Amino acid sequence: MKKLLTLTFLLSLFTAHSQDSILIKSKVANAIGELKEFVAIPNDALNADDIDTNLFWLRKKFTERGFNSTILETEGLPLFFAALPMDDNKPTILFYMHLDGQSVDATKWDQADPYKIVLKSKTNEGWKTESFSDLNDDINYDWRLFGRSTSDDKGPIIMFLNAIDALKKDNIDIPYNVKVILDSEEEKSSAPLPKAVRTYKDLLQADFLVINDGPVHVSGKPTIVYGCRGITTLSITTYGPIKPQHSGHYGNYAPNPGFQLTQLLATMKDADGKVLIKGYYDGISLDDATLEILKSVPDNIEKINKNLAISSPEKVGSFYQESLQYPSLNIRGLGSGWIGDQARTIVPATATAELDLRLVPESDGTKLKNLVKAHIKNQGYHVMNTEPTMEDRVKYDKIVTIKEGSVTDAFRTELDNPFGNGIVKTMESKFGEKPVQIRIMGGTVPISPFINELKIPAFIVPMVNPDNNQHSPNENLKIGQIAYGIELFYALLSPNQAE
Ligand SMILES: [Zn+2]
Repeated sequence: MKKLLTLTFLLSLFTAHSQDSILIKSKVANAIGELKEFVAIPNDALNADDIDTNLFWLRKKFTERGFNSTILETEGLPLFFAALPMDDNKPTILFYMHLDGQSVDATKWDQADPYKIVLKSKTNEGWKTESFSDLNDDINYDWRLFGRSTSDDKGPIIMFLNAIDALKKDNIDIPYNVKVILDSEEEKSSAPLPKAVRTYKDLLQADFLVINDGPVHVSGKPTIVYGCRGITTLSITTYGPIKPQHSGHYGNYAPNPGFQLTQLLATMKDADGKVLIKGYYDGISLDDATLEILKSVPDNIEKINKNLAISSPEKVGSFYQESLQYPSLNIRGLGSGWIGDQARTIVPATATAELDLRLVPESDGTKLKNLVKAHIKNQGYHVMNTEPTMEDRVKYDKIVTIKEGSVTDAFRTELDNPFGNGIVKTMESKFGEKPVQIRIMGGTVPISPFINELKIPAFIVPMVNPDNNQHSPNENLKIGQIAYGIELFYALLSPNQAE
């Protein structure tokens, strides 16, 4: 009897589960149809008319779901804003996604029109086009939708809308006020955003921000990201003779700017890649709890090193994630004279190093640039911010011209923020394991100033596959990620998850 009961129980679980998956599949099917429609509207941020057509479509789709929406004028292209009716007793969640996409060069795609979604399956010979009618019987989660912005970032918008449908259908009382801001210039670095926050402060007011952009961790596992590094740049030029000189006549006599520059650069870092400039890493400390989370990221170090074809990494951190917690000092380009077939027997007139400095919240970009400049001065250089004149050149032995780039700040939310903990818990119970927690991403996103301006905790919750060819030809979205996104949005907006 007991056995029979167990069996019935198991069976009922199984039926419940398979019904569940049929339900999800019908939602995924609907989402695919809607994504085809959305992607079919070109969204090149360089073309204002494209953006307008997208905004019109979005207003209709959000209104259908009971949102109040409005278009926010900015100094650049307008933003899209939508909100469900507000309740003063609920905390407010603000979602950020973007509707614009990178420009396309159709000749580089394996399909005629990058704005017309093509369905493909992976075979041993490569990608094979499939008919959409074959999706009707059973949706294959490994198949992919190819088209511009399927992943970056129209897919997540569609997942969100379909999750709202499901929540409404199930009569779920969402425990948050829900606001959505859709950027139309993310691919052009979101220049109008920080000012827009100041202008529309009240409208955007929220308790926390969830950004749905970018891919999940390369392992494909559910992922939450707490921050991004910022960036600034420096261009450093040293000087030799006023014009390139014959190396026979002046080699051993005219100082060589290439040697000056490399000797100068060599004072900035040790052989392990650690910056030697005093104060460069000041303020950064990683406690045990933080280190534990950093170590829990399932990075495949062997694979990373193999992909990079490096024998051993630099030692700023003792492992990959730890290395991202510090500001970097990187030579991104180096030039003097000519090389290869063009090489000439000269003493060059100048040598230039282009540097980029990736920033973390502890390392203010202006402060780091000043540290580098002070360090160069300490090496006996006369530091200028313009080209030296003839008089300067005759007067000083060692001259350097430094040009500074602007600063994009980093952002990072505390790892133990209650809203972040809520998201982690939701993901854990939904997917049966803790999500990959990335304390700070190495790269820089244009919305950092927006986040810093809002002054609320922010979390990136990516929805799409890591191999989606974002920004490149043949951008694609794995269909399984649509199911993932709908389920995750649904769970995030369900009551048992509210803090
Ligand atoms: Zn994006």
